[in-house]
Amino acid sequence: MLAEVGVAIIGAGVIGLATAREIAQGKKDVFVFEKNRTFGLETSSRNSEVIHAGIYYPEDSLKAKLCVEGKSLLYKLCDKHNIAYKKLGKIIVAADENEISWLEELYEQGRKNGVEDLMLLSQTELKKLEPNIEARAGLLSPSSGILDSYTLLKFLYSQAREKGARFVFDTEVIGIERAGAKYKVQIKDRDGISAFVAHVVVNCAGLNSDRISQLAGIDIAKAGYKLHYCKGEYFSLSSKYRNLVVRLIYPVPEQAGHGIHVTVGLDGRVRLGPNARYVEAIDYEVDVTQKEAFYNSVKRFLPHIELEDLEPESAGIRPKLQGPDEAFRDFVIAREEKASFPSLINLIGIESPGLTASPAIARYVGKMVDELFD
Ligand SMILES: Cc1cc2nc3c(=O)[nH]c(=O)nc-3n(C[C@H](O)[C@H](O)[C@H](O)COP(=O)(O)OP(=O)(O)OC[C@H]3O[C@@H](n4cnc5c(N)ncnc54)[C@H](O)[C@@H]3O)c2cc1C
Repeated sequence: MLAEVGVAIIGAGVIGLATAREIAQGKKDVFVFEKNRTFGLETSSRNSEVIHAGIYYPEDSLKAKLCVEGKSLLYKLCDKHNIAYKKLGKIIVAADENEISWLEELYEQGRKNGVEDLMLLSQTELKKLEPNIEARAGLLSPSSGILDSYTLLKFLYSQAREKGARFVFDTEVIGIERAGAKYKVQIKDRDGISAFVAHVVVNCAGLNSDRISQLAGIDIAKAGYKLHYCKGEYFSLSSKYRNLVVRLIYPVPEQAGHGIHVTVGLDGRVRLGPNARYVEAIDYEVDVTQKEAFYNSVKRFLPHIELEDLEPESAGIRPKLQGPDEAFRDFVIAREEKASFPSLINLIGIESPGLTASPAIARYVGKMVDELFD
């Protein structure tokens, strides 16, 4: 039975794991509470596994800064610890003349964000690099890549444990209350309900992070923390398409996502997706009626594929702060001093590029925790 802990992290997705590794490195007493039986069973294992360059986001946003920093940290981490990855590059394509100005805007945006290796491609240059793609022009991002996200999660978990972080699985946080300068955290596990005291609480609860914040007494409507679920589904292409493309191929972005793109796995398998559909509830079924929409979307720049070669594959849910047709929202990574919760650190709306940004997010949160212990 726990009595008192230094730092209680809620959630063992990539963000909770990376944060636990970072904080435990500083020799603090760290516990991670996870409602599932093990780590990484939610959004962190239901994504495109792309290491993003940091092109799309407004400059000075956390998404831009932490993505660019995270990308470089992640490549170093993968090199040092044998986590499989491929820096295969990505091309955003303009399927018609009207989309070319988008590429130019993205080029400028990327450069403002510190992505310095971007290259605009003519139709001929694009054709040379990707003979199976039909498009008017492209924007090449050489530093984009893919990684084996499960190995990354497993690595972060083992390192956090080696450094002293303790993991409590099958345990759901169901209440957070101020107790002087600390917090009384209520948990539910197989044995029932119990409570302990934490000096610092870090909310890395992904799709549940708005509710955790609400549990602590924050008015999430007023704070702008209410999450919207935005589903992203994938279809796989049959094995005859293995060498169809060399790089990741993206259309120009749409409002809620990066657009249905073509990704190549480390094993060479080709996937299409994700789409972006706002939904009310969490369910990971792929809606097969979306198949035609996928086909039509990708056929604009990949004319050789056939409808019958698409198979439903998997789905993930984005924890989005912006609702349909709303403007860009940044990650929330905040010490809740103004709401009178100075030792509660909220991470809300950690959608893409959260996987890429994870080591940088962990550093950012690690500094906040250090300040609290100074
Ligand atoms: C379709 C899709 C594609 C994406 N593609 C990419 C990509 O290519 N590249 C990229 O960089 N990013 C991508 N992302 C984003 C990336 O996957 C996420 O940003 C990242 O995985 C978020 O990690 P997390 O730890 O915050 O959340 P999660 O992985 O969801 O972890 C949160 C954890 O908190 C636990 N939890 C919740 N409530 C409680 C509670 N009360 N008590 C205890 N535990 C609790 C959950 O069980 C869960 O394990 C994509 C996301 C989606 C949905």
